[in-house]
Amino acid sequence: GLTIGVLAVQGDVREHAAILDASGADVVLVRRPREIDGLDGLVIPGGESTTMDRLTRVFELADPLRDAIAGGLPVYGSCAGMIMLADRVADPARDRQGDPQRTFGGIDMTVRRNAFGRQRESFEVTLDFTDVGHVPAVFIRAPLAEDVGDGVEVLARTPSNAPAQHPEEAGDPEVKDTAGRIVAVRSGKLLATSFHPEMTGERRIHDLFIRMIRGDA
Ligand code: GLN
Repeated sequence: GLTIGVLAVQGDVREHAAILDASGADVVLVRRPREIDGLDGLVIPGGESTTMDRLTRVFELADPLRDAIAGGLPVYGSCAGMIMLADRVADPARDRQGDPQRTFGGIDMTVRRNAFGRQRESFEVTLDFTDVGHVPAVFIRAPLAEDVGDGVEVLARTPSNAPAQHPEEAGDPEVKDTAGRIVAVRSGKLLATSFHPEMTGERRIHDLFIRMIRGDA
């Protein structure tokens, strides 16, 4: 069987672990650098990318993870995890020293954080997901992908009924049109979604990731 890690410093770790377990994988909660060794794949959960950035640096996980991803480790990132897999962040948060948040990188794309508005603008729509089909998708202060590179395959975009941003709480005034935006991508063995399949009992996205690890997708 496959051994799949879930980065377990912050975020909805348990939900991802439960789906991977149900899919037959041996699940490892990754909190220390040595727990990366021997993984067939890794899931980076949803949560808060600035906190994940800070904690993975404190736990000395950030550099080993960046190296493992660059070295070909298959990774699936959901929401904050998608941000962590992006080579570039359009609107990075800054710490007290003014330094921008960092990512592990791996996918040649720019992500825009909180692109669909704040918490109360969380929404659910049905996506048409390449090779998976219709997927109910929950978005919570979700990012979107912009400027994806040539090697990046777009797997899903928001439908035409994606909610417009709340005028006072828009995540970013530059994001005017929330329809047709890129919310799922694949680049080699890296998969990223803006939404949270683990919150709707959806297993097909994790199954796709497992097929990618096996070389069957
Ligand atoms: N807005 C969060 C971030 O920037 C992501 C939200 C989520 O993972 N649900 O990290």
